[in-house]
Amino acid sequence: MTARTDGPHDRASIGVIGGSGLYTFLEDVTEVAVDTPYGAPSDSLFLGEVAGRRVAFLPRHGRKHHLPPHRINYRANLWALASVGVRQVLGPCAVGGLRPELGPGTLLVPDQLVDRTQGRAQTYYDGEPLPDGSVPNVCHVPFADPYCPAGRAAALDAARTSGWDPVDGGTMVVVEGPRFSTRAESRWYTAQGWSVVGMTGHPEAVLARELGLCYTSLNLVTDLDAGVEAGDGVTHHEVLEVFARNVDRLRSVLVTTLSALPGERNCLCARTLDGLDTGLVIPG
Ligand SMILES: [Zn+2]
Repeated sequence: MTARTDGPHDRASIGVIGGSGLYTFLEDVTEVAVDTPYGAPSDSLFLGEVAGRRVAFLPRHGRKHHLPPHRINYRANLWALASVGVRQVLGPCAVGGLRPELGPGTLLVPDQLVDRTQGRAQTYYDGEPLPDGSVPNVCHVPFADPYCPAGRAAALDAARTSGWDPVDGGTMVVVEGPRFSTRAESRWYTAQGWSVVGMTGHPEAVLARELGLCYTSLNLVTDLDAGVEAGDGVTHHEVLEVFARNVDRLRSVLVTTLSALPGERNCLCARTLDGLDTGLVIPG
């Protein structure tokens, strides 16, 4: 099935990639199955309207949560969103806190990223031919500041408005998973000055940048990582429980954020590909 772009119900300007508990905010949801040159995304896109904005929701791990972080087709996910018109992406995700003050229930809007993943396809510009025979050029996009400044400001404002005092800035280290960190790894991350550890923030952010999309990460801390907690280490159960407890307010912050995103993009993300000979036709 290919992307249908024949009506307003198949179009969206804002994308949200997140857990399945998060998309009940959409009105009149249209499910759109999208195929991409990189294969299938994690699931269909769920398109709807919220606060007057057209939004496409994509369950990052699939609606049945069957995809572990290392098996998510990140290239297909970002491409699918772009193909229905998305240009601004919000990427909420669960993370572990690397400092005692960043405990469960903390909302952090990171401004930096460290990639510790291995073997994930993390570029559209690898010189490999696409199924249609076109060959994207080798390009190097700027990534010094991995997140959209306008999106970050909107997310921070939205959290403050809702009474959930957010942490403004910090570094998310993204690990391969799906296992949690050892205590030694965790202490090392903390010693580097990094704030939180996650498993999906990379290559999501860089692929958005490579398509010239805005990307904003919202980190919900669900646990203290192994190096800073004294108990038996992080459990999956603990993560799910904290996520469930915070999902309502995270959903409300997302709604306020996306309604506050600028309709006209004036950020650097929008100009990423200016002057670059990418050889790639960005869909949408
Ligand atoms: Zn931007």
